[in-house]
Amino acid sequence: MKAVRVGEFGGPEVLEYTEVERPEPGQGEVLIAVRSIGVNYADTMRRRDRYVLRQTLPFVPGSEVAGVVEEIGAGVEGVRPGDRVVTLLGTGGYAEYAVAPARGLIPVPDGLDFDRAAAVPLQGLTAYHVLKTSGRLREGESVLVHAAAGGVGTLAVQMARLMGAGTIIATASSPEKLELARSLGAGALVNYTEEDWPERVREATGGRGADVILEMVGGDFPEKNLHCLAPFGRMVVFGAASGERGTIAPVDLMRKNQVVAGFFLPQIMRRPELLLPSLREILGWISAGSLKLTIGARFPLAHAAEAHRALEERRTTGKIILNP
Ligand code: NDP
Repeated sequence: MKAVRVGEFGGPEVLEYTEVERPEPGQGEVLIAVRSIGVNYADTMRRRDRYVLRQTLPFVPGSEVAGVVEEIGAGVEGVRPGDRVVTLLGTGGYAEYAVAPARGLIPVPDGLDFDRAAAVPLQGLTAYHVLKTSGRLREGESVLVHAAAGGVGTLAVQMARLMGAGTIIATASSPEKLELARSLGAGALVNYTEEDWPERVREATGGRGADVILEMVGGDFPEKNLHCLAPFGRMVVFGAASGERGTIAPVDLMRKNQVVAGFFLPQIMRRPELLLPSLREILGWISAGSLKLTIGARFPLAHAAEAHRALEERRTTGKIILNP
């Protein structure tokens, strides 16, 4: 089968479209004929060996696929060849076929195409749980969503609205991206590349600062976020897209009773009592038409390097999809 392989760590050019052996489903696993692959920022971090977990070489990247069950491994019940599914993987998704544990399969609802299905689990669950589980967002509270036109960002802006947030402040690097965030429900827009953005956030919240800040940029952002975080506010750290981890002094949290929380999606995947209700709620919003999935671009699998380049050069909005 065709797949994209990484044989050495580096820039997008190390993504090699090549022939590899088709995997076999083992005990409790299924083989999926992949139709749509979700590209995530983490894929670029793994490719550069900057991911939070150590990656061994060679590997096929890709943690999110939607497709049709092709074969069933031993001991699998309740799943049949032909079922339409979407699932999360460690790696192995940038391929024509992928093996996945049967217990992690999410049935794709009628009316949801594979591209849109592949846009749901990773960024959708992240947006949901950074707001609700780690951010502990309460009705009427203000939220600052960084990179609001991105994959997680476009969903977080909408979910904050659906969860009853008050003012939703969106940051992004261009007027077009900010306009997208506005169309999804953001009430205050801040270009964080041009302005004294913490001051703009303070203005948008009547001088108080935001109650919840979704931090995924790194560099000087964690520290600057504290300048526009409200008393008793929560900053949720779930990424460092700039590649720089950033620093803050714990003692700086003291004066305003502020909280910094970390977030890593695999921890949610291990907790069915958190995972299943959130998945149901997200799929419910989608079928009701209240949560829009923004597919920013589609690339053939053979052009995965182009997709990574666009993502890292900040040229994308919403979800990026690869099609085998
Ligand atoms: P996005 O689609 O949001 O793409 C990343 C965006 O980050 C860019 O579009 C860009 O938006 C912004 N950005 C800010 N600074 C930089 C920079 N120096 N270089 C490149 N981009 C920058 O990606 P995802 O939705 O896939 O992921 C968003 C973040 O969430 C990432 O940091 C990712 O690692 C994290 N994440 C964490 C998870 C977890 O479990 N902890 C799970 C999923 C995602 P702009 O042009 O507007 O600045």
